[in-house]
Amino acid sequence: MSETDTIFSKIIRKEIPADIIYEDDRAIAFRDISPQAPVHILVIPKKPIPRLADADAEDAALLGHLLMTVKHVAEREGLQDGYRVVINTGADGGQTVYHLHLHLLGGRAMTWPPG
Ligand code: AMP
Repeated sequence: MSETDTIFSKIIRKEIPADIIYEDDRAIAFRDISPQAPVHILVIPKKPIPRLADADAEDAALLGHLLMTVKHVAEREGLQDGYRVVINTGADGGQTVYHLHLHLLGGRAMTWPPG
């Protein structure tokens, strides 16, 4: 297992099961195993970028694609009343899996500030 190989790499390679709800050549979306809202989906790049802080200028189009994927998935999930998108980055950001991922949270009203 390389440094960038995480549990999400195994999901991308279909080595472990996940509730995958969207996939294309650059991204994959699946339901979070420990949902914090009625809808809690993770959108991740297939490229193993560990943290947002590790993204390069050449990743700009991919990062845009991930946001557009969140929008697409949110529409499919019927989140017309809104939703929250979260990227936890690094230790202080509360990141636990070091493969960049966008949390899509919806189906209830969110509070602010987050913890
Ligand atoms: P973060 O704390 O931002 O790094 O988020 C990691 C997320 O991955 C958490 O919300 C976990 O519940 C979720 N997670 C960890 N393992 C799995 C898995 N095998 N399938 C789906 N979600 C997972």
